[in-house]
Amino acid sequence: MNALEVHNLRKTFGSIKAVDNISFGVPEGSVFGLIGRNGAGKTTTIRMIMNIYLPDSGEVIFRGAKIGQDFRDKVGYLPEERGLYKKLKVMETLLYFAELKGKTGKEIENKAYKYLNKFELYDRRNSKLEDLSKGNQQKVQFLTTILHSPDFLILDEPFAGLDPINTNLLKEIILELKSQGKVIIFSTHLMDFAEKMCDHLAMIDRGKIILNGSLSEIKSKYAQRNVSLNYSGDISFLRNHPFVEKIEDYGNSTGIRVKDNSYIQQLLRLLIDNNVTINKFSANEISLHEIFIELAGKDDTNILSKEVNNV
Ligand code: ATP
Repeated sequence: MNALEVHNLRKTFGSIKAVDNISFGVPEGSVFGLIGRNGAGKTTTIRMIMNIYLPDSGEVIFRGAKIGQDFRDKVGYLPEERGLYKKLKVMETLLYFAELKGKTGKEIENKAYKYLNKFELYDRRNSKLEDLSKGNQQKVQFLTTILHSPDFLILDEPFAGLDPINTNLLKEIILELKSQGKVIIFSTHLMDFAEKMCDHLAMIDRGKIILNGSLSEIKSKYAQRNVSLNYSGDISFLRNHPFVEKIEDYGNSTGIRVKDNSYIQQLLRLLIDNNVTINKFSANEISLHEIFIELAGKDDTNILSKEVNNV
């Protein structure tokens, strides 16, 4: 069953079709990735779900009813544009936001301490926001979205600006929230994150949905003739080889697509016969990044793969 359904949403800004007739469903209990490159339409979609932008047409249904003003109180929303009161202290900020959502300080205090500890912020609980690093401010902002215990979370680019350690902490907390049965939508342009985190996704490109469904189904559909290879040596002999359809080099790993499933064994033999050292040979494996490049074209390939490799 779907917790949230988006039906035929459209939003234009002048001549820009930011969101162009998109529909998707977010299943109960899922971590749902809204993914696509910069400017694809993710934030505009989220703002319409949040009732911040009025759609030109279409509707959003939450657990059977059309969303209205009260929807905002039911969800934990991390907006793309971050903004906290810089003069407030960390703990004051957390209490203030919880009260806005109808909770008392007492109700959230223990939980606040627990999460401050997890995020390595407990010692900074009495620091002013302006004295925290950007990443730490972002962690506080994330806490303001979850402390009132919403069972539905919408996180717009939650990992932007976090270092790898904090990224991992945030991932752990998101997965912990999922295990408590919460529904989580998050947007990202980093396919690598989406692949690790979400079980369902909608991929947006130029305002349109180009892929939608469960991650495992999507991957098995696209993977059938694919091999993911980590190697050292020379594989240039594979270029223009009769049974190779294409090769994509991603630096650390290489994606090879053969023309038919049955060639996969021959590919392995060929690599060994040519003295290639194989560190990993994984048949029927394809990354979300490769699927994205295949569907959304090559315009931004270099930028995207660099960002993915850097995280
Ligand atoms: P990013 O990852 O860069 O935030 P995004 O996928 O969230 O990208 P949106 O912010 O939804 O993309 O933008 C979609 C398109 O709509 C872009 O071309 C953007 O310039 C345009 N757009 C978004 N908001 C407005 C606005 N308020 N006025 C005019 N154009 C807008």
